[in-house]
Amino acid sequence: MNGTHLLDIRDLGKSYEARRRGAGEGTASALSGVSFTADAGEFITVIGPSGAGKSTLLRSINRLIEPTEGAITFAGRDITHLGRSGLREVHREIAMIFQNYNLVYRLTAIQNVLHGRLGYKNALAGSLGLYTEEEKLRAFELLDEVGLGEFAYRRADQLSGGQKQRVGIARSLMQEPKIMLCDEPIASLDPKSSRMVMEILRRLTRQRGITCIVNLHQVDFALEYSDRIIGLRAGEKVFEGTPEQATPEVIRGIYEGQMDEVVDVTVGAVDADVAGAAPLAGAGAVGGAQ
Ligand code: ADP
Repeated sequence: MNGTHLLDIRDLGKSYEARRRGAGEGTASALSGVSFTADAGEFITVIGPSGAGKSTLLRSINRLIEPTEGAITFAGRDITHLGRSGLREVHREIAMIFQNYNLVYRLTAIQNVLHGRLGYKNALAGSLGLYTEEEKLRAFELLDEVGLGEFAYRRADQLSGGQKQRVGIARSLMQEPKIMLCDEPIASLDPKSSRMVMEILRRLTRQRGITCIVNLHQVDFALEYSDRIIGLRAGEKVFEGTPEQATPEVIRGIYEGQMDEVVDVTVGAVDADVAGAAPLAGAGAVGGAQ
């Protein structure tokens, strides 16, 4: 409830009403009254149908999106209304992983990883690509850690999707984050690569005490990997609990009317062969291609 948690989200809300297109559209909020806390080393997944507010939640936490209600306390500091310089500091400790990797494709894997240090440099050093030997060594170590030691000098555009995402993770680790916010990190990956990425993320929570909050489309992976699952529906938190508590009935409740988006969860058990190979779809509507 107070500063003892790494992250404390209170009554978070976001309304896009001012920007809503379409005649006759109401003022539905994308997120409303969402509260939860996260501690060091926790692996939390956020599930829910397309449009439930998962991405809005994650992006509000690091203020890529300005929440319209509520408060965010991170490491004992209220970051809800931080200005530019305060945010720059906070962004070092809150890393973000994206579905589309956000790499610079004409650069090598190691150069992309080094970009993780930009938040610690002044603009000139950053733009000139001035990194210390120590930083370069660290970047190599991190690539090695995610199984890409031999790909350090490979251009990012020549890597597979799974490899790109692992470069993205190594880049995040260069920031020395306390928390990693992962927005559908495996939605574009095949099942094998997905599993590898999930394993790496969980290892980071266990071995480094980094907190991971992961938006997922693959409910089966959420059930398998999470310490805690948060279910969103229509912008509201409708479930929070352990994988054991996330029974098939609970899952059906979260995805009410949109069960077609759930990948084989009616069995309620962990199925190693989940369909995670949905190609990049537009905003949402991925639905786990079989
Ligand atoms: P999810 O990640 O669960 O698919 P989102 O957070 O992307 O959900 O979206 C939640 C709701 O907010 C949806 O109704 C979506 O259409 C709306 N929304 C998201 N981004 C914007 C935006 N930039 N402008 C207007 N509405 C948006």
